[in-house]
Amino acid sequence: MSEPINICLSCGLCCDGTLIGFVQLDNEELSPLRQLMEIEETDENGLFFLPCNEFGCNGCNIYSQRPKACSNFECGVLKSFEKKELSFDKAIEVIDVVKQKKISIEKQVATLQIELQSKSFHFKMLELKKLLRKNKSELSLSQNQQELIVELEELEKLLSKSFGVSF
Ligand code: SF4
Ligand code: SF4
Repeated sequence: MSEPINICLSCGLCCDGTLIGFVQLDNEELSPLRQLMEIEETDENGLFFLPCNEFGCNGCNIYSQRPKACSNFECGVLKSFEKKELSFDKAIEVIDVVKQKKISIEKQVATLQIELQSKSFHFKMLELKKLLRKNKSELSLSQNQQELIVELEELEKLLSKSFGVSF
């Protein structure tokens, strides 16, 4: 069970739009991937937005044919586990803390009736930060909004320290 793949199977934070908002594709990948999934194409390259439609209960539905950016991606938690700096249980613990914080932030956003337009949690947090910063500069932050800022900052610190990503 203590294999890197099992950490990823218990996690999925890079596929479900929590850590990142989109996946960039190389030109030569576009043709085969077009047959497998919905992608956005520009003049030269392509991308797809997260959460990924191919992310299912058992992980990636197109695992053996997944894009290069996906197979090359290793977050800080996975790297630390592979270098034996982090035990399997500790890695799962860190992942669970992020998932709990995500749920808590989403609940607070719903309670405060904040409307965010983005699909992914990652881009929603960017939107939220911008919104709260604007309210802060106008000195109109409620107690609940201040608590939300604290929670958001804690999540950002954790993501940056453990996963090597930020909003
Ligand atoms: S965020 Fe890291 S541990 Fe989680 S699925 Fe992606 S690479 Fe694996
Ligand atoms: S293609 Fe697979 S590995 Fe890549 S984001 Fe989608 S589910 Fe994750």
